[in-house]
Amino acid sequence: MGNLECPNCHKPAIPAWRKMTIGPMTSAICRGCGGKVSVPWSAMWTLIPFLAAILIEPYFKSDALSVVLWVAGAMVMGLLYHFFVPLIARR
Ligand SMILES: [Zn+2]
Repeated sequence: MGNLECPNCHKPAIPAWRKMTIGPMTSAICRGCGGKVSVPWSAMWTLIPFLAAILIEPYFKSDALSVVLWVAGAMVMGLLYHFFVPLIARR
C-alpha cells in the first residue's frame, strides 16, 4: 500500500495504514506539512458491516462460523474505509 495524499499540502505523505488508525475523533499528523488530517463523521457508516456481524453472531451456533463472520465484517469495514472514506484537513 502506498501513501495517501494529504488534504493540507497535497503531497503523498500519509501512510495508508495510518488512515485505518484514525477516526472522526482522532487525527494524524502529516509528515510533509505537520498539518492535522482526519476523517469526516460520515466515515462511521463503514462500521455498519462490522456491527451487523456482531448483531447476527449470536444466531450462529458454531464458533468457527462466528470467527469467520467477525473477520469478514472487519475486512469489509476495512475495505470500505480504505476506498470510500476521504481524508479531510482538520485545524
Ligand atoms: Zn501535509
